[in-house]
Amino acid sequence: MTRTPVANTFDDTTTTTTSADKDSLALLGLGAMGSALARTWLRAGHPLTVWNRTPARSAPFAAEGANVADSAADAVAANRLIVVCLLDDASLDVTLEGVDLRGKDLVNLTTGTPAQARARAEWTEARGARYLDGGIMAVPPMVGVPEAGGYVFYSGAREVFEEYGDTLGAPLGTKYVGADAGFAALHDVALLSAMYGMFAGATHAFALIRGEDIDPVAFAPLLGDWLVAMAPAVHQTAEQLSSGDYEKDVVSRLAMQVAGVPTFERTAEQQGVSTELLAPYFELMRRRLAMGSGDEDLTGVVDLLRGRG
Ligand code: NDP
Repeated sequence: MTRTPVANTFDDTTTTTTSADKDSLALLGLGAMGSALARTWLRAGHPLTVWNRTPARSAPFAAEGANVADSAADAVAANRLIVVCLLDDASLDVTLEGVDLRGKDLVNLTTGTPAQARARAEWTEARGARYLDGGIMAVPPMVGVPEAGGYVFYSGAREVFEEYGDTLGAPLGTKYVGADAGFAALHDVALLSAMYGMFAGATHAFALIRGEDIDPVAFAPLLGDWLVAMAPAVHQTAEQLSSGDYEKDVVSRLAMQVAGVPTFERTAEQQGVSTELLAPYFELMRRRLAMGSGDEDLTGVVDLLRGRG
C-alpha cells in the first residue's frame, strides 16, 4: 500500500483497537525513546511486535497490546517493517547479527554519524533489505504530542518513507531530506551542534551574572527572548552563503563587532569568568577581519571553519 507522508497523524483520541489498514511493525529497543514510540504506535492501532535486550523492559508492553518477541530474529521474522531505536550503532551490529533481513524494510532511528548511516545503508542493502535512516529531533515526552513540534529527519530509500508515511508520522512529524542515507544524521547533528553553541552562550551569560544581585529566574526570560530575537539571523547567513555575497544587507559590520570584543573580554575578567567558551569564536572573528573582511558580518567564519582562508 502506498501512502502519502503526513506531518503527524497521531490523534490523542485514537483507541488502542488495532485496525486492518494499519501497518504492522517490529520495534527493536525499548529504552526511553523506544518505549515512547511503542506506546504511540499501540495507541494509534498498529499491530506491534517489540523486542528489548533486557526482557523486563518488554514485559509491560504485552499488557498494552504488543506482541513480545523472545529474540530480535523472531521480531524481524514476523514483520516487514522493522524500526530500530537502540543506544548506538554498535548495538545494531550485536542485535542484528545473523538475523535474516531479506525482503525487509529497516528504519533506523538510532543516533549516529552520517558515515555510520551510509555504511548501515550498504550493510542493509547487501542483506536484501531497504534502508531508511532517521534522526529524532525530540525528547520522549514530545512523542505522540503533535503540538510539541517534534519530528524525525529521514533520508535514504524514499519509497520506504512514502510507503510507510502514515506509520512513521504517528509518533512524530516527518521530514525527508534526501536519498543520501547520511543526510538525516547530518541534519540532526547540525541542528544539535547549533543548540550546543546556544547553550554555551547561555552558560557564559549566566556565569557573568552569577554572584551579583541579579536573580537568574528574572534574567532567564530576558536571555530566552534575546536568543529568539537573534535566531532569524540564520536566514541572512544562509542567503549570503547561497549568493556568495557576504556584504549584502550587512547591518552589523565585522569591523564593528571585533572592535567590541575587548568589552566582552574585560567584562568577563571583571566578573571573574573564564572566556574559554567564547574565545575561539572571537579568535575566528579577528582572523576573518585580518583577511580584509570588515564589511561582512559573521558569515565568513563558516569558510574559516572549513579551512578556506
Ligand atoms: P536508552 O539508554 O533509554 O535505551 C537504550 C536502548 O538500547 C535500550 O533498549 C537498551 O537495551 C538498548 N541497548 C543498549 N546497548 C545495547 C546492545 N549492545 N545490544 C542491544 N541493545 C542495546 O536510550 P534512548 O531510548 O533514550 O535512546 C535510543 C536512541 O534514541 C539513541 O540513539 C538516542 O541518541 C536516540 N534519541 C534519544 C533521545 C532522548 O532524549 N532519549 C532524543 C533523540 C534521540 P537494554 O534495555 O537491554 O539496556
